[in-house]
Amino acid sequence: MDFVFAPPAAVSVPVAGRRERFPVHRIYCVGRNYAEHAREMGAAPERGTPMFFMKPADALVIDGADVPYPSVTQDLHHEVEMVLALGRGGRDLDAAAALDCVWGYGVGLDLTRRDLQAAAKAKGHPWDVAKGFDASAPISALRAVGDIGHPRTARLRLTVNGALRQEGDIADMLFGVADIVRELSKLFTLMPGDLVYTGTPAGVAALQRGDAFVATLDGVGECRGRIV
Ligand code: MN
Repeated sequence: MDFVFAPPAAVSVPVAGRRERFPVHRIYCVGRNYAEHAREMGAAPERGTPMFFMKPADALVIDGADVPYPSVTQDLHHEVEMVLALGRGGRDLDAAAALDCVWGYGVGLDLTRRDLQAAAKAKGHPWDVAKGFDASAPISALRAVGDIGHPRTARLRLTVNGALRQEGDIADMLFGVADIVRELSKLFTLMPGDLVYTGTPAGVAALQRGDAFVATLDGVGECRGRIV
């Protein structure tokens, strides 16, 4: 096929212990999925339906790469999160079918321009510029469900310059993995290659140029990087 210019390169994520990479379609994100984080942001924890937003696939930054400090913000925040990698898709899935879509797991950061997010909330504006900027989605190598199963409980933590900033357990998510994928499938036709950032525990705070971060999900993976 001929194009008017070369199409953008496919986005993909390495898989731990395998030669093949995971090709990425979309990135979905869950907001306020841990009660203590909802409270620290001034919101009441809710169990009705999850709140979703998106990032572009090319916002990913693979483990070990530098993260450029974004433009326009004075308050870049870290949010450490478990990431789901879907190997199958579908619409209107039930919980069992939703869980079967999950091919693997990783850990990443939902980087946030917190000052722009606060301004958007105050005006009732969308969150896109606060969440979906370039390099806003650092991610680890993925681990396949075939290798590790579906983790039900696992410590999630973030250190910055060696100091612990965030720590939680995925067992404390308000919406679990199957619930998240089921609810997403009501809103979007899910596809193989979709990633889902599943929300952050409490302790979100600012990052500065020069900061070195390590995001860890026990038994799953680690994502390291530096803000430059
Ligand atoms: Mn988040």
